Amino acid sequence: MNTERTRPRVIRDPGALHREVAELRRGGKKVGLVPTMGALHQGHLSLARTALEECDVCVTTIFVNPAQFGPSEDLAKYPRTLDADLDALATVGSQIAFVPETDAVYGPGHATWIEVGAVAEPLEGQCRPGHFRGVATIVLKLFNMAGTDVAYFGQKDYQQVQVIRRMVEDLNVPIQLRVCPIVREPDGLALSSRNVYLSPDQRQRAVSLYASLCHAEKMVASGETRADRILAAVEEILLEQGKGRIDYVAVADPETLEPVEQITGETLIALAVRIGETRLIDNCLIQPPAG
Ligand code: AMP
Repeated sequence: MNTERTRPRVIRDPGALHREVAELRRGGKKVGLVPTMGALHQGHLSLARTALEECDVCVTTIFVNPAQFGPSEDLAKYPRTLDADLDALATVGSQIAFVPETDAVYGPGHATWIEVGAVAEPLEGQCRPGHFRGVATIVLKLFNMAGTDVAYFGQKDYQQVQVIRRMVEDLNVPIQLRVCPIVREPDGLALSSRNVYLSPDQRQRAVSLYASLCHAEKMVASGETRADRILAAVEEILLEQGKGRIDYVAVADPETLEPVEQITGETLIALAVRIGETRLIDNCLIQPPAG
């Protein structure tokens, strides 16, 4: 099938993107933004699909943001698959792909950074120092460059969403945020651009992340309220079934991300695990049984 005709138009210049989106909005079109780092999979595409259900035009950004990678992280080997990404976007109908060069995003002398407070500190913030500073900065820059009505993010990066929400509220950023559910493989593994790093054996072990979350959900559904018991059970599955190295497992308040000891209302279970050299994250929101 020739997807060439329906590929999104690639815009590389931030100024050109801004003018284009402003023009569309002046014409009464609603415009949605889907920020990604490329290596697109069905998780990313679900965001673009939702954007197209709710907006007239979907701008998907593809930019591997160096500022959110630590010095020992996988920036150099992060998958870059622009051609396949444009074909994938053609299948959902995203009209514009914004693919800026790094120099156009971080000009010479760039010296302004966004630091979000408490909600950026635990979990990913603790394991990846500087990560959310890089994320918040690029996301605000993309919001400013694009100037869309709405932006779409995945629940897969739960803490990232909370950090962006905080920033948008604190800095009065004029954009609406929408969060889309986690898209998973049939066996439950959350789709991630990093899954391509997994060997077949590691790929099987990686199912333990989802298995551990399902187990936690079942424990809570059958009346368990103690976070320490849930943590122990989740960790056992990750270690034994996944043979993973755990960065963290958290039973936390879904707003503040502070740890909870007793589950009395909606609660976040979030985890980060290394399977071999590949760091994977996953999460779920659980609700104790009513009454
Ligand atoms: P990334 O390219 O990893 O920066 O992700 C770009 C956006 O896609 C973020 O908002 C992610 O939360 C979202 N995303 C990544 N994986 C998934 C998934 N499996 N399901 C839903 N959204 C996802």
